[in-house]
Amino acid sequence: MTLQRSEVSGVTIKGMVETSFVDWDGNIVATLFLPGCNFRCGFCFNAKLVLEHDTLDDVPISYVHSYLRSNSDFLDGVCITGGEPTLHSLEELCSLVKSTGLKVKLDTNGSSPRVLEELIDSRLVDFVAMDVKAPLREREYSKAAGVPVDLKAISESIELIAGEVEHEFRTTVVRGVHDRQSIREIAGTLERAGARRYVLQKFIPELAMSEELRRVKSMSDAEMDELVEVAAGYLPAKWRGR
Ligand code: SF4
Repeated sequence: MTLQRSEVSGVTIKGMVETSFVDWDGNIVATLFLPGCNFRCGFCFNAKLVLEHDTLDDVPISYVHSYLRSNSDFLDGVCITGGEPTLHSLEELCSLVKSTGLKVKLDTNGSSPRVLEELIDSRLVDFVAMDVKAPLREREYSKAAGVPVDLKAISESIELIAGEVEHEFRTTVVRGVHDRQSIREIAGTLERAGARRYVLQKFIPELAMSEELRRVKSMSDAEMDELVEVAAGYLPAKWRGR
């Protein structure tokens, strides 16, 4: 397929970090931010991209393409994040990245297993990072995500990602929302699906979408260590954050 490099259908890019060492472990990447999300997690630290993306300027695709081509010797890949990227048509954007010789990492909330399946089957993504917000019970998951969530879709995405592509699953750990028991349950679900990597992320209160959660203290390093120990009883686990 010949792509128009000045545009890519189905996608608007609302932000770009040209060089990131933290968005894909072991890789130097450019990170692209896509607008909008179907979840409203109180702990989301990208509220503007979710709620007010119309106020953000577009990053021209011609600029992205030219930057990736010029830096393909230095970069390992591109992280496509959001918001929720799977709300967009990602085929052309992923193809454009691939045409520069770079790898693609996709961040997702797992709500669109069919979109993920198509991208994985077409080999347009090399790595998928999926958030698992809570134990897979309707009330808890929907509370964490801020909207009613189709748990069947979440389960399907976990199974698909764990079985078909390099991956990590991750949970942003929020005091009062997550504890040893909830991490144990999530890790157990991931283990049963065959997942090979689980990352607990420290919650950053000052960036939280929810005003209430902005007053919640993030976990200490020692508390994160304890939760990782629980998760590591099921699958390889670590935590990240500051
Ligand atoms: S944390 Fe992710 S899934 Fe939740 S609202 Fe923010 S972008 Fe959406």
